[in-house]
Amino acid sequence: MDVFGIIGNPVGHSRSPVMHEAAFTELGINARYVIFEPEPEALEEAITGAAALRITGLNVTIPFKQAVLDFVRTDELATQIGAVNTIDFSTDPPTGYNTDATGAKRSLEHHGVEITGKSAVLVGAGGAGRAIAHMLAEEGANVRIVNRTESRALELADAVNGSGYGLTDITELLPDADLLINATSVGMEEDVSPVHADALHAGLVVMDAVYQPLRTRLLRDAEAAGATTIDGAWMLLFQGVEAFERWTGRSAPIETMNQALRRSL
Ligand code: NAP
Repeated sequence: MDVFGIIGNPVGHSRSPVMHEAAFTELGINARYVIFEPEPEALEEAITGAAALRITGLNVTIPFKQAVLDFVRTDELATQIGAVNTIDFSTDPPTGYNTDATGAKRSLEHHGVEITGKSAVLVGAGGAGRAIAHMLAEEGANVRIVNRTESRALELADAVNGSGYGLTDITELLPDADLLINATSVGMEEDVSPVHADALHAGLVVMDAVYQPLRTRLLRDAEAAGATTIDGAWMLLFQGVEAFERWTGRSAPIETMNQALRRSL
């Protein structure tokens, strides 16, 4: 039996087990997906131990996404982003990938959204923001990053050859934008949006990284403005799809994983 899992602390809220277990069942793969919650100071032993126990693959979440870089080799995208959310143990040393970035890209592609040459406004410069900013730059979008702490936006913009702004500048940036992505946690705890509803327009594709709730205030406002909307479960789904395909070398049963994920949300 192949063993997969997720390491984080705390990690009890993870939706990854239901997605991956549904995929194993669908494809008749004899495998289990387990939640691991090591103490932060035991990360190195956890990774070494996972390799020794021949665990096939691990997802990585808060607070280990950056720290794990010391114990794996990373592909180019994960190196640029400076964070790993998927480890493949079939190599020695294990290889770390960032499928949050590819998940966001595949989510847009799935909805027929072009990225190359488009003007994108990204709100947020934390972990998800960094992954998405590098992906957008790699795909040839014009990247404008807006963040509450402006210095973080400027720093990230510098790394991706984009431009950085404070949160209040967003209204001026949106009229000629094609794509708006929220990578802040705004909208999760409270029914609020990081963007004033009046600034949204029908020419925008609006993607939210927040997946709980699914229909955030931002997406409801965007829908009312006539914009195309993509909820946060799509990015979550496709980061899982990408991890599954890296681990197993097989095409993921996307529809099965999507249904299992959406049932759990
Ligand atoms: P993070 O590293 O802690 O970053 C949080 C970001 O939100 C920062 O840019 C922060 O701005 C901003 N922020 C927080 N509170 C704010 C407020 N009240 N007003 C304005 N900005 C605020 O978190 P993360 O890991 O990037 O996660 C961000 C969100 O993305 C979470 O909701 C998470 O669940 C979601 N996410 C979704 C997926 C997916 O697959 N769908 C994947 C990863 C993350 P400052 O820099 O000013 O603090």
